Amino acid sequence: MPPFTFTIEAECHNTWARTGTIQTPHGTIQTPIFMPVGTQASVKSVSPEELRGVGAEIILANTYHLMLRPGSSLIASFGGLHSFMHWDGPILTDSGGFQVWSLGHLRKLNEDGVTFKSHLDGSLHTLTPERVMEIEAELGADIILPLDICAPYPYSAAAARSAMENTHPWEERALRAKERHRPEQTLFGIVQGAFEPDLRRESARTVGVLPFQGLSIGGLSVGEPKAIMWEMLKHVTPELPRYKPRHLLGVGSPEDFVIGAGLGMDMFDCVLPTRVARHGGLFTRYGRVNIRSAHFRTVQGPIEEGCDCYTCQHYSAGYVHHLLRAEEQLYSRLGTIHNIRFMLRLAEELRAAILANTYPAFRDEFLARYIPASEETRETQREKWKSARTRQS
Ligand SMILES: [Zn+2]
Repeated sequence: MPPFTFTIEAECHNTWARTGTIQTPHGTIQTPIFMPVGTQASVKSVSPEELRGVGAEIILANTYHLMLRPGSSLIASFGGLHSFMHWDGPILTDSGGFQVWSLGHLRKLNEDGVTFKSHLDGSLHTLTPERVMEIEAELGADIILPLDICAPYPYSAAAARSAMENTHPWEERALRAKERHRPEQTLFGIVQGAFEPDLRRESARTVGVLPFQGLSIGGLSVGEPKAIMWEMLKHVTPELPRYKPRHLLGVGSPEDFVIGAGLGMDMFDCVLPTRVARHGGLFTRYGRVNIRSAHFRTVQGPIEEGCDCYTCQHYSAGYVHHLLRAEEQLYSRLGTIHNIRFMLRLAEELRAAILANTYPAFRDEFLARYIPASEETRETQREKWKSARTRQS
C-alpha cells in the first residue's frame, strides 16, 4: 500500500467544500481537519495523551525552531520526532521558510538558498531546498514542505513576483532532493503569489502539476485583511487538481476554518487557538469569551454548556477564572484543552454537514451566531505577541 493516499468521500453541491480521508504511515486523518501546532515538538501545555483525548488527528511542528534547538540530527538519534516527543500519530513539518523571514535576522538570499542569523544565539545558518529535505528527513514527519519564500505584507508587485519565481525552481529542486531520502515521507508543494490574483493563479497552475501529493497555500494570513485572503483563495482553488489535499498554511481561527472549508481547503493549522487560550480567550458557540473577566468569578457551570471537553466536564468556569487570575499553571492546560477540543468538534461538525450536503446552511448559521474578534483586537494582539517575541530573542 502506498504510504500516502487521499480519498474524497463527499463534495458540497454549492461550494468547494469536500470531506475525505488521508492515509499516512502513522494513521488516518479525516478532512477538513484542524492541526494543533507544536512549534518546539510540544503543543504548549498539553501532553500527547491529552491531544488524543480531544480528538487531535495530526499535529504540526516547526522545522526552523527544531533545527536550531535541539537540532535535527539529535532528534534523528532519538528515532525521529514521533518517538522523541512520544506522539505516534501523523505529523506535518513546515519548511522553516516562513520563520526565516519573520524571526531570523540578517537574511541573505541568493539563487541557491538563504543565509540567516539564528534568533536564539546569532549563529549563521544556510538553508537550501536540498538541506531542508535533509533536515525534514531527520525529523521524520509524515508530511513535509519544501523551502519557499514568503513575500511580506504590505509588499510590492515586483517583490511578490520575484518571491514566487524564486520559490518555483526551489520546489523542483526539493522534489529531486527528496528522492535521496525517506520514501515513506510525503512532500507537499507550496503555492505563493502574495496578493496578486494573476500570480496566485500562475503559482497554483505551476505547482499544481508538479508531482507533489498535496498542496499548501502559503503567504496568506500575514497581516492582510481577511477579505483579501478569501479573495486569493477564489483564484487559487479552481486551478488546483481536485484529487490532492489542500492545506491552508497558518490559518485556523474558528470562523476561518468554517469559511476556508467552503473555499476548498482540507487542512488548517494555526497557533491561535492554543495561544489565545493561554491568554484567557476561550471559544464558545457564540464567539470568543475572556475567562479573565469578572463576570466568570461566580459562574458555577462550565465554560460552555454542552461542551464535551475534559475541562468543561470537570471544572466550573468560576474555578478556571480563578486559576487564570492566580496565574496557576493548571489554567493553561485546561484552557488549551477546551480550545483544541472546540476546533476538533468543529471539524467533526463540518464533516457531518458536508456529508449531509448541508454545508452552506451550517456555515451561514455558524457565522451568524459566532462573533469573531474584531480586526482591531487582532491587530493589538499581534503587536503584543510581536513585542513579547522580540524581548525573548
Ligand atoms: Zn470545554
